[in-house]
Amino acid sequence: MRQSQLFTKTRKEAPSDEVSKNAQLLIRAGYVHKEMAGVYAFLPLGLRVLNKTIGIIREEMNAIGGQELSLTALQDPEVWKKSGRWSDEAIDVWFKTHLKSGSELGLGTTHEEPLTDLMRNHIASYKDLPKYVYQFQTKFRNELRAKSGIMRSREFIMKDLYSFSRSEEEFRKFYEACAEAYIKIFDRVGLGAKTYRTFASGGSFSKFSDEFQTVCEAGEDTIYIHEGRKLAVNKEVYNDEALSELGLRKEDLREEKAIEVGNIFPLGTRFSDALGLTYKNEAGEAVPVVMGSYGIGPARLMGTVVESLADDKGIVWPQAIAPFAVHLVQLGDDAEVQKEAQEMYREMTGEGIEVLWDDRDARAGEKFADSDLIGIPLRVVVSQKSLAEGKFECVERHSGRTVHHTLSELIGQLTSHKSSL
Ligand code: ATP
Ligand code: MG
Repeated sequence: MRQSQLFTKTRKEAPSDEVSKNAQLLIRAGYVHKEMAGVYAFLPLGLRVLNKTIGIIREEMNAIGGQELSLTALQDPEVWKKSGRWSDEAIDVWFKTHLKSGSELGLGTTHEEPLTDLMRNHIASYKDLPKYVYQFQTKFRNELRAKSGIMRSREFIMKDLYSFSRSEEEFRKFYEACAEAYIKIFDRVGLGAKTYRTFASGGSFSKFSDEFQTVCEAGEDTIYIHEGRKLAVNKEVYNDEALSELGLRKEDLREEKAIEVGNIFPLGTRFSDALGLTYKNEAGEAVPVVMGSYGIGPARLMGTVVESLADDKGIVWPQAIAPFAVHLVQLGDDAEVQKEAQEMYREMTGEGIEVLWDDRDARAGEKFADSDLIGIPLRVVVSQKSLAEGKFECVERHSGRTVHHTLSELIGQLTSHKSSL
């Protein structure tokens, strides 16, 4: 993509009411637009990152047998009354609205109820189970505090998967497979080293749930980490009883601030009982389906990457979710440089390398500052100097390391081990 064509512009200042680092940087670099408190639009650069994040999550969910669907945002109160979760006491973040006729509707905060109800049409016998169903869908939550930028917004996409199993044992097997898939996802987006599987409260359904918490100063949660076992305990369940049950000693744990990037939850038969989702076992008896739910917020994950990896110059994207692999920065617009940049752009994109080509008429200092702010993993500079040398300056965004490559060396590097650049 030619940067001169991109409609978004970088800006020096973030809106004065924006307090979170992730939104400040993402707004300044032109990834997102703040519509109002806790509500953000995704602009072309931001959508590329969000879609790449979604793509990684989708691959890992498909790999463990997930089937993708798309449920509705508008919710029928009757379905929610069956589980007792229509009330504002049960779910304190509901947005509710009315039809013209006067009847009430909700905007989905989560989707256990409608999916459990829907599955009654498709699950009848033990032969129909297990099933794993997921979606990427907009949730609406009237969050009280929305001060964490795109990490806590009032309208956001969630990947929510729901498992339907015959027994507790069958459920646990999938639960563990999903925990492993989550670890792969956080590894792939560059947060693996800082992310801990964390014991958290199970709510009303079971003793514990598991959160995936990324250590970060901007986090709203407090966790206690056991480094050796690469696990943690959320402050909400950090007490003597829980610790002894988990075989942990206080003196081995370290307190940290962290961001909940994902959450997996045993549901037992809480929703299948309430909505009447049963299957016939081999003896012909009706048995309630054992369920679990598994959430990740792609935008929260994206915001966490910004919070964790950014430096004082701007955003630093890992290759896997960067909007482009290469920022081709053209300095000067004399015919030779112009032609060379054009040729490089053509060759790289021809090899399937995603390139943002800064072909704007602007000063070098401004181009470099924008390039640092936008955070594409590799910057390649085309100038009179590089033409004279026949080699191009390539600067790694995350390390600042500079190497000089010919075009064919560069393409060879980018296509052979993309992830290392
Ligand atoms: P939190 O405790 O942070 O409020 P939650 O426990 O209510 O989150 P879940 O309902 O389990 O969150 O949602 C699953 C995932 O969706 C979370 O792990 C997080 O990644 C993401 N998520 C939740 N709320 C938001 C939000 N307001 N904005 C963006 N992502 C969110
Ligand atoms: Mg939570």
